Amino acid sequence: SRTPVNVTVTGGAGQIGYALLFRIASGQLLGPDVPVNLRLLEITPALPAAQGTAMELNDGAFPLLGSVDITDDPNVAFDGTNVALLVGARPRTKGMERGDLLEANGGIFKPQGKAINDHAADDIKVLVVGNPANTNALIAQAAAPDVPAERFTAMTRLDHNRALSQLSAKTGTPVSEIRRLTIWGNHSATQYPDIFHAEVAGKNAAATVNDETWLADDFIPTVAKRGAAIIEARGASSAASAASAAIDHVHTWVNGTAAGDWTSMGIPSDGSYGVPEGLISSFPVTCSGGSYEIVQGLEVNDFSRARIDASVKELAEEREAVRALGLI
Ligand code: NDP
Repeated sequence: SRTPVNVTVTGGAGQIGYALLFRIASGQLLGPDVPVNLRLLEITPALPAAQGTAMELNDGAFPLLGSVDITDDPNVAFDGTNVALLVGARPRTKGMERGDLLEANGGIFKPQGKAINDHAADDIKVLVVGNPANTNALIAQAAAPDVPAERFTAMTRLDHNRALSQLSAKTGTPVSEIRRLTIWGNHSATQYPDIFHAEVAGKNAAATVNDETWLADDFIPTVAKRGAAIIEARGASSAASAASAAIDHVHTWVNGTAAGDWTSMGIPSDGSYGVPEGLISSFPVTCSGGSYEIVQGLEVNDFSRARIDASVKELAEEREAVRALGLI
């Protein structure tokens, strides 16, 4: 039988953790034949709640689940970790300034990055879900100089999936027949869901829709503000769809994109498409053999250029802010 893969989830006692851990244990993160050992990192006051989740995981009697360990020490949590899902973060509370938010998250992601640097397995892959995800990923990556930078990624797959769903509804086409959609930039309100290269049932999506007003005034804001709409509707945040997207992100990274398709991931820029090197920005990527590559050579029209630039400008400002705070 295969060697178990060590998967660490931070914020394991939270809402997303609750939706995520059971799907990991059932084999949906890596594949139906890959055993997993789970490590849950939590802050000290949340350890009892994490213990409760671990009891339920054991009660799931998942054939692929080797062990569940709980700790409040990042050095223990990331020891030998192959896949790290950084979910726990400091949420923005009322009256909190952006600088305070970045500083509070620096206090979480900098030590976690260092612990990953010092203790994780050589093949470590990191996905940051906790917001501000792109900049939290940058902070962790900067604290892990011995780990190849490209192993630090931020989640824009939920935005990608939301865009697929909206385009599916608009065109009456199942999501399985939509390909090559792209989220560019930051996982924030400035993100840009791009359908100019997407295909709906084999035809260009933008041409099929042929409605720039819908694109600018309906599709893009609906995707960007979907999280708030879900809080409004259910009185709680979109934890299950966020967990589902985290599963998709890692599954695709490890197992590859389908031939002729791509996905969206927040990754350290190599300067492609005018995105300054090192910013963790969302790009169209193909995955194969456990690594990813930015899709090259896409023509970027004026409509897209302005929106990509605006989101990248926000990322650059966040990088300046964490630099000024000494976090990177
Ligand atoms: P959730 O599990 O609902 O959310 C966790 C993080 O994911 C938040 O930063 C949240 O950002 C982000 N997120 C990203 N996408 C989404 C989405 N679509 N919908 C909702 N959230 C999204 O938060 P809980 O408060 O339930 O749980 C957090 C847990 O993390 C707590 O148990 C806490 O103790 C723990 N924690 C652990 C730390 C550690 O291990 N060192 C450090 C800090 C916290 P947003 O701010 O936008 O909601």
